[in-house]
Amino acid sequence: MKLKCGSRYITVVFMRHSSASAQVHQPLNYINGTRVESATKDPGHKFHLIAPATGEILRDVPGAGAEDVDSAVAAARTAFTSWSKQPAFQRGSILIKAADIIRARSEEIARVEVLDTGKPIWEARYDILGCADTIQYYGGLAATLTGEFMKLANDSFTYTIREALGVVGGIGAWNYPFQMAAFKSAPALVCGNAMVFKPSPLTPLTAVMLAEIFTEAGLPDGCFNVIQGAGETGQLLVRHPKIAKMSFTGSVNTGSKIMAGCAESIKHITLELGGKSPLIIFSDADLDNAVKGAMMANFTNQGQVCSNGTRVFVQKDILAQFLEKLVTRTKGMKIGDPNEEDTMVGATISQEQAEKTLRYVQLARKEGATVVYGGERVTPTDARLKGGYYLSPCVLTDCADHMTVVKEEVFGSVMSILTFDTEEEAVRRANDTEFGLAGGVFTKDLMRAHRVIAGMEAGSLYVNNYNLIPVGLPFGGFKKSGIGRENGPDTLNYYSQIKSVYFEGGDVDCPY
Ligand code: NAD
Repeated sequence: MKLKCGSRYITVVFMRHSSASAQVHQPLNYINGTRVESATKDPGHKFHLIAPATGEILRDVPGAGAEDVDSAVAAARTAFTSWSKQPAFQRGSILIKAADIIRARSEEIARVEVLDTGKPIWEARYDILGCADTIQYYGGLAATLTGEFMKLANDSFTYTIREALGVVGGIGAWNYPFQMAAFKSAPALVCGNAMVFKPSPLTPLTAVMLAEIFTEAGLPDGCFNVIQGAGETGQLLVRHPKIAKMSFTGSVNTGSKIMAGCAESIKHITLELGGKSPLIIFSDADLDNAVKGAMMANFTNQGQVCSNGTRVFVQKDILAQFLEKLVTRTKGMKIGDPNEEDTMVGATISQEQAEKTLRYVQLARKEGATVVYGGERVTPTDARLKGGYYLSPCVLTDCADHMTVVKEEVFGSVMSILTFDTEEEAVRRANDTEFGLAGGVFTKDLMRAHRVIAGMEAGSLYVNNYNLIPVGLPFGGFKKSGIGRENGPDTLNYYSQIKSVYFEGGDVDCPY
């Protein structure tokens, strides 16, 4: 099939799902209730949209420049004036309607997410339905957005009003594109804010679909806008004087630049950053569950999950049994076409990310680790997928705490197995990191589970499972892994501010 792309033609071979293909060739900015082309003619803002499953360039996307960002922020600012004055319950009803539309269109959105990310279709479906739940959840919380009242002497009293912040800027990473847009917009909108959201340039498609769904559900134009672009466009948002808060998901390095930009004009900030989380497996654990947990903690989404438990501490006496079960199960994971129902490992997001992951495996070998399985480029037999970025999930043993692969976030399917003797040792080594996003423990000893969790320095912790984020459970990091929380009731505090009012019921008692 031939498709027009700017002034040239590209051959597209991975367009089996026509609804996904239809999304690619539409304008990808969404400002004031409509899809619009970028106004900037600066070629420096242009980026390729590539399908990770095939390596094919699907189109060039003109990124948003200052003019586009200004117009998105202006639309949001205008919409904010009336949106923030609507009763919260009414705002919530719109979100609940949007959740219903997402459920009705979930298969279509999931196929687009697969095209954009290369993740297996079953994972994409799970993500999209989870987003519908989250949006419904925040819609339901609308009625809880109340203030407090306190009675004082002489008919005086105080009360508080929870108010929106204004226009919130959102910037997302590429591993869960629809989720990033949903997890940020739902609490922001329900609190009465308007939003300008910038997805990762690697995954621009589904945030725009969310914008259209919000409009269909009744969200006033301008309340949720999408602009496309890379870091420069992100900085235009961060430094925009009319943005009141930035909500960012991405790497620690970029997070620190966002924070610096926000510091200039004292913007509110939420940072959801990277991790290098520990998973501790004691010898009394149910071994099959522990193996499954370690796989979920490492191989979900081709290993591209911020909360992954990539440092797997296994108590020494069960190492051999654990490894045997783990490797057998890992070898059984089907790698290939992400649109196939039984595919367990799809494509890594990009050539760059695949190469980075392989470099970490190579370096691990050099530093003394043993590759027990995987960590290689895989070429699927299907000729259409030959240019895709497929890697086999990697299991490393003989790892040590000082190795690069054990210290740094790989963001690919690389599990580092470390051994330990005592509980005290495991917790101490687990905490020996600058990150603090997540962690987990597998044990049948109830009291030990509580002790270990209490000792771990991380925001999201798991006992006898891993990487589940049920709707309503706050998610976010300690230490360099972030500031603020998403996905729970507390998040409303990060998207609103309190106005305190003192009401005098008598005369002014003035000492002057
Ligand atoms: P990244 O930091 O490279 O990019 C994230 C976003 O920031 C993109 O939209 C990018 O265009 C934008 N950006 C880049 N430079 C910028 C700048 N100077 N100013 C403003 N915006 C800028 O991260 P990534 O590679 O897209 O994502 C992977 C990282 O995200 C990993 O570290 C992962 O752990 C983290 N992550 C964290 C969570 C969480 O909830 N804690 C979730 C998913 C991913």
